[in-house]
Amino acid sequence: MSVWHTGGTTPLDRLKSRYDRDLRCGECGYVDEEGEWQARTTGDRVDYRHLCPSCGAVERRTLKLRR
Ligand SMILES: [Zn+2]
Repeated sequence: MSVWHTGGTTPLDRLKSRYDRDLRCGECGYVDEEGEWQARTTGDRVDYRHLCPSCGAVERRTLKLRR
């Protein structure tokens, strides 16, 4: 999968950018303007995590990669 090495404008980066604009906490409604999703790649999935700085709740999203 060469998309991992093209740098900066991969589909995953675009997806992450979309998530970065969606940082409203599902628990308390706090919008973390300064925050970002932490992405971790595990095999054929990408796990995204965001820790709410207001209430400490962890939001998770999982993206399955298609090859
Ligand atoms: Zn919260």
